[in-house]
Amino acid sequence: MRIARFSIDGNVAFGAVEGEKQDELVLDIIKGIPFADFELSGTKVPVSKVRLLPPVLPNKVVAFGRNYADHAKEMGNEVPDAPFAFFKPATSVVGPGDEIQYPSFSQDVHHEAELAVVIGRLCREVPRERVKDVIFGYTCANDITARDVQKREKQWARAKGFDTSCPLGPWVETELDPHDLTIQLTVNGGQRQLGRTSEMIHSIEDLIVNISEAMTLLPGDVILTGTPAGVGPLHVGDEVAVTIEGIGTLTNKVVKRG
Ligand code: MG
Repeated sequence: MRIARFSIDGNVAFGAVEGEKQDELVLDIIKGIPFADFELSGTKVPVSKVRLLPPVLPNKVVAFGRNYADHAKEMGNEVPDAPFAFFKPATSVVGPGDEIQYPSFSQDVHHEAELAVVIGRLCREVPRERVKDVIFGYTCANDITARDVQKREKQWARAKGFDTSCPLGPWVETELDPHDLTIQLTVNGGQRQLGRTSEMIHSIEDLIVNISEAMTLLPGDVILTGTPAGVGPLHVGDEVAVTIEGIGTLTNKVVKRG
């Protein structure tokens, strides 16, 4: 099931996305919240009549670095022996169609297409065999990075945590085998990144075991699983799109921060 979060007439709701053709998609509005038991209301509204929002509002976004060998290599980095994580704050999250605001303190903002895992239940110290039970579903993410700032500053809080640096969406797919999906990114229609989730160095199971060893994960928390090779600069006016097989396409436009 594809679950979207949206606003209509000033109200925010979740809905199950029905249909295949982009211009014919319909939302069946969900009664309750999708992390607990919920029912479909049967009240339907066309996707074209609503504003899609970030599919979840995470308490935290935990992002893993250098998890595809080709990307580590293009950055001149060694592949890490163990997963390593950093945070993107809740205030970095924006939704499908939202603007990415180019920050004033960077001259080299990059795109990074990533598979995002959405956590479905409160959990800690998750054993490998239980990882599937704590996952709600999957969505597309763009780990927008001020590359010059990342190189200059030891901690990545500013480089990877600025406002609008974490587009998520367009919805959460709850029934998906995430282990071998095509992940691609285009800028103004031209392909920049192409990889498969099977190329991850540390698996989704590894990543969730690793982070949940340290901290409690909450429903709606998001885990970014790393980016394949092909990262590169974005410029004001660009339209950047992340497409993951079986999920959909997350599109955002880059604007100057006003
Ligand atoms: Mg990344």
